[in-house]
Amino acid sequence: MPDTVIRNATIIDGTGAPRFVGDVSIEDGHIAEIGEISSSVVDLEVDATDLVLAPGFVDVHTHDDGALMQHPDMTFKVSQGCTSVVVGNCGFSAIPAVTGESTLDLSGVEASWNDLDGYRDAVEGSNPAVNAMMLVGHNTIRTLEMKGERGAPNDRQLLRMREHVELAMQQGACGFSTGLIYRPGRWADTEEVLDLAKAVAPFGGIYATHMRNENDHLLEAVDEALHIGAEAGIAVQISHHKAAGRRNWGKVTESLAKVDAAVAQGARVTLDVYPYTAGSGPMVQYFDINNPDPELAQVIQLASCPAFRGYEGRMIIDIASELDMSASETVQHILTAPEGKQTICIQHVMDEGDVVTNLRHDRVMVGSDGIPDLTGRPHPRLFGTFPRVLGRYVREQGVLDLESAVRRMTSLSCDVHGLQDRGRVAVGNWADLVLFDPSLVLDVASYEDPKRESVGINNVWVNGQLAFEEGHHTQIGAGRVLRYREH
Ligand SMILES: [Zn+2]
Repeated sequence: MPDTVIRNATIIDGTGAPRFVGDVSIEDGHIAEIGEISSSVVDLEVDATDLVLAPGFVDVHTHDDGALMQHPDMTFKVSQGCTSVVVGNCGFSAIPAVTGESTLDLSGVEASWNDLDGYRDAVEGSNPAVNAMMLVGHNTIRTLEMKGERGAPNDRQLLRMREHVELAMQQGACGFSTGLIYRPGRWADTEEVLDLAKAVAPFGGIYATHMRNENDHLLEAVDEALHIGAEAGIAVQISHHKAAGRRNWGKVTESLAKVDAAVAQGARVTLDVYPYTAGSGPMVQYFDINNPDPELAQVIQLASCPAFRGYEGRMIIDIASELDMSASETVQHILTAPEGKQTICIQHVMDEGDVVTNLRHDRVMVGSDGIPDLTGRPHPRLFGTFPRVLGRYVREQGVLDLESAVRRMTSLSCDVHGLQDRGRVAVGNWADLVLFDPSLVLDVASYEDPKRESVGINNVWVNGQLAFEEGHHTQIGAGRVLRYREH
């Protein structure tokens, strides 16, 4: 007997197929029946008239490794309709780690684990509201094995790094990630990355990359990513595809053409995008502290700034004029202050036309890249990404249709990242589901007021348990750390 029946829903099943009206029942965490359901004695019956029932959204690009424990209710994700997150992106993962030390992801939580099995225990012990899938990060393993060494690894170091990748894959990671724009990833040559990418091939894992360059040398960076995928014989996920800097706007058309050409030759390549024209990340990574780029400094806003909380939400140029400094001097002033290196900034460097080009492409999935530091004013993508695609780009602008948007938030994401038996409204699949109002769904988080939950998301189920009910977080933590392609 089902425990939940959702009646009269407009079902968008995640495959891209046209919507249809029907009932869906949930039993023991799974979708039990789809169609006209007669059972009447159930714990919960939901009238879904005029609402869309879709598979729960999968945020394929997150930095939630630590947040699953620091904020297990994951309100910023659940309120968007997300039921799973992929962690360990951009080369920064919370595994491997040294017990008792800070992790080498963006959260820097104190690790009570060394490997993915230990991390899984710690996360599941926190009862997170959503599921997670892990990528093992190159920056993390390189820092562990080479500290700050800039040269190529010696044989022993390379072997140790390869062992970290293999162990993570054995324990259920979906692949290997890089952040080649960041330190220490930028010091790795293509051969080093390729050697490590090859270690995921026997497991059928993927190579997810924040590429070496996203501005003047974007196209060369795409070539490098495609080369690594081809040589290692694995699928490539290009992270947060973009062209930064005004002179590069429009280039995403060329890089998507490169992807299309590679796919036509048999390569497996997909991408993700967040629907905003600003990026965000650790400020220390974007500037040479001795000589900060004055042009970039013009378009920087501060998200979290432990050294100067009063600067949060403000543009560098405004702070600079107040301090009677140049923008570059202001960047130095912040980065050299105690805790200055923990500053997270927002860079207004992209073009709206490129966001639209990305969203139109059927190999582009949705990923927030949100950085879950809730103390400051995070980039609004942390709270708004999925409803923004559904409201602004589907309903208001007609950039893509709803079935296609849902597919690129669900089945495509699950197939590539190995979230088995998820991402489709199908009998026998896990009941990760979202119920939303297509006429209302919209982000309301802004750069000025970024921690606002979206509107139009009604209910969210994770593994059959109700995580979000009529705008309220139930605090039921039914999420799990998933294993790649495990039934
Ligand atoms: Zn990144």
